[in-house]
Amino acid sequence: MRLKDRVAFITGAGRGIGKAIARRFAREGAKVCLTDIDEAGVYTSAEELEKEGLTVFAVRVDVTDRGQVEAAVEETVNRYGRLDILVNNAGVIRDNLLFKMSDEDWETVMNVHLKGAFYCSRAAQKYMVEQKYGRIINISSTSALGNRGQANYAAAKAGLQGFTKTLAIELGKFGITCNAVAPGFIDTEMTRATAARIGVDFDQLLEMWVKEIPVGRVGKPEDIATACLFFASEEASYVNGQVLYVAGGPKD
Ligand code: NAP
Repeated sequence: MRLKDRVAFITGAGRGIGKAIARRFAREGAKVCLTDIDEAGVYTSAEELEKEGLTVFAVRVDVTDRGQVEAAVEETVNRYGRLDILVNNAGVIRDNLLFKMSDEDWETVMNVHLKGAFYCSRAAQKYMVEQKYGRIINISSTSALGNRGQANYAAAKAGLQGFTKTLAIELGKFGITCNAVAPGFIDTEMTRATAARIGVDFDQLLEMWVKEIPVGRVGKPEDIATACLFFASEEASYVNGQVLYVAGGPKD
């Protein structure tokens, strides 16, 4: 029960990594607000966790909509009395080589990852500063180091690392830490969609990836949830502004 009585707000929690983080945090005693743009997905995920006896609720939130973000953060505080942990996890990919990348592909990716994290963090810090306690965790990616076909996504995920370090500097004095987890290849709908887009069978894609990963397997959403739990815990109060690559091997 490492997060006993803590209150968490997680974006993109309707499935994949966000859902795994929500489950892990709730099992550790946190009360969790699951948010996602996918209304059906987020309500179904919350129901699943409630059936386990966990304390959670769901709200449909598009992180690029400031009004929706601020209303959901406020609803969480009204319901559970405080806000301790924010995980900026919502994400999209719109991969293409630079010369084929549309303005819309660029803007969509920037908006969801960067504007979304900005809106959520700004809304959450208001309560965290008052409490003199908070944990902000941003989900970056190994793509931040560069990845063919992902100029938009790589720029956004690298941007999130700069955002993380800056919040760490600004908010540290209020007892708030900000860190990032940068996953490598994780088996989720997102990576399945990538396989479909490039016309490769998903099992074939997994085989290709596994050869490159020192631990000899691809990641699971739970691997990322474990890393987030560390940053979210009270004991990690001296760890601030860090980027933890969770990729089955070293990254630069
Ligand atoms: P996922 O299965 O696609 O889940 C992402 C969730 O975010 C989806 O439910 C998606 O809803 C939601 N979302 C998209 N746009 C949103 C918006 N504007 N507002 C609120 N929610 C929105 O992806 P995942 O693999 O779990 O990825 C989670 C995070 O990890 C992302 O930030 C991703 O970039 C990062 N990551 C993933 C991997 C990987 O290998 N899977 C590696 C590195 C980093 P819709 O489906 O309706 O759009």
